[in-house]
This record gives sequence, structure tokens and C-alpha cells, in this order.
Amino acid sequence: MAAMHRLLDAEIASTPLPPDEANKAVDITCNDCRCGAHSTRFHFIGNKCQACGSYNTAIVNGPYRVS
Ligand SMILES: [Zn+2]
Ligand SMILES: [Zn+2]
Repeated sequence: MAAMHRLLDAEIASTPLPPDEANKAVDITCNDCRCGAHSTRFHFIGNKCQACGSYNTAIVNGPYRVS
């Protein structure tokens, strides 16, 4: 799984969002570690769990704009 996370990290790093979509966040829950809802940076490729690094997450709120 960690290799998959790194692959997505690299893909997201090399895929800048259009200005409209940049600087947005979502609230997610993680299906891997069940860390509870928390915010993370929004990206259409995947939304990363800040606790375990997984992209196996579900959006519960957002995306919403952050400064
Ligand atoms: Zn997680
Ligand atoms: Zn999480």
C-alpha cells in the first residue's frame, strides 16, 4: 500500500490544479485507519489521510476554499 501512496503523491505533485480548484480543502474520513473526520488539501486525483497517508478516503464535507 505504501508504494501506491507514493505513486499518488508523485502524481499529485506533478499535476497542479487549475486556479479555480487550488487552495481548497475537504473534510474526509479514512477507510484504512478510521482516524475520524479531518480536513486535507483537495485534489481531484485523491484526498490524502493526514494520519496514515492513505488515499482510500471519503469526502464528508467540501471542497471549500481556504486562504
Ligand atoms: Zn488514514
Ligand atoms: Zn485520516
